[in-house]
Parts: sequence; C-alpha cells; structure tokens
Amino acid sequence: MAVFDLIIRNASVIDGTGAPARNADVGVLGGRVEAVGALDGAEALEILDAAGKALCPGFIDAHVHSEMALLGYGHRYGSLLQGVTTHFTAPDGFGWAGLPKELAEDLWETTLFCYGETDLRVDWPTPEAYLSLFPGRSPANVVPQAPHCAIRLGAMGWAPRPATRAELDAQKDTLRAWMEAGAVGLSLGLDYQPSAYAPTYELAELAKVAGEYGGTYNAHIRNNILGREGAWRETIEIGKRAGAKMHVAHEYVNEVSEPLLELAEQECDLTFESYLYPAGSTHFPQYSLPTWAQQGGDRALRERAKDPAQQRRMREHLDRVLAENYAAGAKQVISANRTGSYVGMTVEEAAAEAGESLGEFAMRSLVDEAPYTLTVNHRPGGPEVHDEMVRKTAAHPKMMVASDGIYHGPHPHPRAFGCHARVLRLAVRERGLLTLEQAVHKMTGKPAERFGLARRGRVARGYHADLVLFDPATVADRSTWDEPLLEPAGVERVLVNGVTVVERGKPTGALPGQVVPRGGSA
Ligand SMILES: [Zn+2]
Repeated sequence: MAVFDLIIRNASVIDGTGAPARNADVGVLGGRVEAVGALDGAEALEILDAAGKALCPGFIDAHVHSEMALLGYGHRYGSLLQGVTTHFTAPDGFGWAGLPKELAEDLWETTLFCYGETDLRVDWPTPEAYLSLFPGRSPANVVPQAPHCAIRLGAMGWAPRPATRAELDAQKDTLRAWMEAGAVGLSLGLDYQPSAYAPTYELAELAKVAGEYGGTYNAHIRNNILGREGAWRETIEIGKRAGAKMHVAHEYVNEVSEPLLELAEQECDLTFESYLYPAGSTHFPQYSLPTWAQQGGDRALRERAKDPAQQRRMREHLDRVLAENYAAGAKQVISANRTGSYVGMTVEEAAAEAGESLGEFAMRSLVDEAPYTLTVNHRPGGPEVHDEMVRKTAAHPKMMVASDGIYHGPHPHPRAFGCHARVLRLAVRERGLLTLEQAVHKMTGKPAERFGLARRGRVARGYHADLVLFDPATVADRSTWDEPLLEPAGVERVLVNGVTVVERGKPTGALPGQVVPRGGSA
C-alpha cells in the first residue's frame, strides 16, 4: 500500500451525499482522497486520531463576496475557519473582466462596497486573466461564474434600456467566452446597475445560452424593483422559457415565497440558497434609491446628486422610504464606510446624532463617505418570525446553504464569520431541523451536483481532498450582530486540495486554492 500524506483515523465520516455517517479512516495522497475504510497498518507522513470528531467534505459556498479577501484584502480566513473551501466568484453578477478601462473602473467603484479597498489594477482583458489571480494566492478554491453586470456593461455601457439585437448578440458572445473558460453559469444581481435595466426576454435569451453548456442561471432576483413576489414570478418565467437550471440567491421561505416555490416545482427546474439570518447587507443609500437615481453607477449617481433639484428629489425619497422602513420595524446598521464614522450605529441613530433628517444624512454620506457605505439591513419581525423562517427554510428540499458573506470593514454581517457554523449549531444541534448529514449535504454534495463540480463535495476515493474535521458537539458560530468578527468554534482542521489551511482552529498560511471549472478540474 502507498504511503499516504495523511491518514485521519476513526472519524465519523459524513460523505456529503446525505447518507448516514460511518466510522472510517480516510487516507489522503497527492491532493486526493485515496482511500476510505479501515486503514490498519497503513503508513502515512502524518496520522491524526479523530475519534469523536466528524469529517466531511469542504463546504462549497455558491454566493459569497470573498474574491478580494481570498487574495489577501480584508478578512481572508472568515469563511475558511468555518470549513468553506470552495467559493463561487461573481456573486450578484459583480465582475470586471473584459471591460475597457473606464467602464471597468466605474463598475469597480460601484461594487466596492462588497470588497473594500485594494491596490489591484482593475485590468483583466479576459476571463482567464482574471481567474489567473487566484492559483498560488488564494487559500480556497474559486469557481468561476459569468458576471452579468460586466457582460451587459461591455455590450452597451450603462444604457437604461433593453439591448438591441446586436447588443444582445454581444452579451451572448461574452457569456460564451466565460462558459468556455469554465464558468458554471451566469450570475446576476438584478437590483444593481446596469443589470436592473435588462428586460425579462433578454435575461431568458442569456439563460438559454448558459443552459446550452449545462450552466445555471444564478440570480439575486429583482426583489427591490419588482417586489419579492414579482421577482420570483419573473424568475420562474425565465426558467420556463429558457429551460435552464435556475437558482435564486440569498432567499428564505415564508408566506410570500412558499407558494411560489410550489409554482416553481411545476414550471421549471429551480433551487435556492439561504444563510438563515433575518438581515441582508448592501450599499447605502443606493439600495433605497429609485432606479433612475442609480442609473450609470455610483459616479453618475454622485454627479446627479450635485444638481439641486435632483438632490432634493432623492433626499425626499430617502426621507420617506427610510422612515417607512423604521416604522415597519426594519433597521439599517452602518457596517463599513470610508471614514469609519457611525460604524455600528443605526442610520436612525447616526442621523439623530448628526442633527439631520434620515434623507439628509443619507445624501451626505453619499458624498462624505464616497466611494461607499455598507449597511446591515435587519428585516422587520421579532424572534417568532425569525424562528419560523428558519424552521421553514432549513429543511426545504430545494434549499442549500450559502453565506453571502462580505469580508471587509470593521462591522460586517455576522454571516461572514458564522453562516455555516451557525447552521450546524442552530439548525442541527439546537433545533433538530436537519440531521448533521442533511446539513452537510446542503453545504457540499448538493451545490457540487447542482453546479456541476465533478469530484468535489464528497468524501470518496478519487475526490479532491477538500475536508473539514470538526467536533459535532461544540461546532458553533460565535459572531454576533455586535461582535461580528468573532471566529467560529469547534472546527479543528480544514484541508484544501490535500493541504492543511486551518489547524487547531487557526490559519496555516498555505495558499493551495485552485480554479475549479464547470465539470471540475482533472
Ligand atoms: Zn445579492
């Protein structure tokens, strides 16, 4: 028998398929799982006794804003410490490759709220040029997705209208280039510029192209613009017309989405993902402004805000919308901005301290905090509403876990350091909504299968050795709304491609991440 690089002995192996755990030894060699079973007498460079611990595939996160953090800008290990070994790129359609310099920089600035400052030159002429950033520089694997924002911007600039035939053809060409480069599908953020202006038929045409490659249409649906029900109906319609695999980002089950999920069951092939917290996180105050104000991205928005009449229209809109939000029980907490002012306070508290109306404060922050302010947006509803959402969502058969984590700034949403660990603590151990095997499946085998990642997401012979060893009795998130940077507990060892990236709960500094294309790397 070969000498293994590592043997993990006596672990309770959860293989990622949802099948019951079984006690086994796992042998790792050359970045792969070489054997699962009884390996008595086998030799290895390292033998780890894991009695009482669970060993499962590395978690696969299909919606996470981690690209810059993985490259060393921001909270690089917040997800890895939980066991997330594979991250999808281009969440919400954000990406910058293939654009002329000025448009790339415009879009970079507009999406900066997710990534924070870096010293990168935003100059990636092709998908391959962008993806080449990661090998040798990232502790985790990255899975490419085609970024809709950049695709539309490259074809027609910020134009606030449907594409012409030629512009649609240009979008299809760029999407094909991404699919050829290994993208698992098209990623969209339909509440963001310039994607907000793409009409349903245009999206269906692009979904068809992704579908030709077996790819997935993975969208932040048009919640803010159409309302949640309208956004779900549009997505189902696109799925029906295109016949492609549909996936809805950062969603949850409640009385609005429940009947729509039933409708989707009949009409198209659809899955969704959830992080199971009662709050989102996005740019402020852009997300509360009407589409006309945001048209052209953040630089155009700030130019527009210099015009007194437009400035007044926006401020009045914000005064009204933000007051309605607070009255309904929602709240927005300032997560990150340029100056660090008011971080951790609600917008309401910050405006009061500044002696301004909500709209005045919001408009001033557009200028003073440029290029961005990030907030955590708590939805209305008390603990009972939240408990019910978790109950309905966690066990839904179409649901998988994805964090939507944002990894920069002093006060991010706690999902960044806690999402996956929280599911294991809350949904499995405390509330018994899922078995450990089911929860692991929703973080590993299910996303791998849905997005077509071969030889990932399972503990089985020949699979890449992306592995997580944790204590099922103590695994837990520690990040909270007030202390969002607290590291998770109970995750002891994490391997990416057979290399240890987390040992005894601490990063090793190894950077073994690879680009994982559709179909998986050889
Ligand atoms: Zn989103």
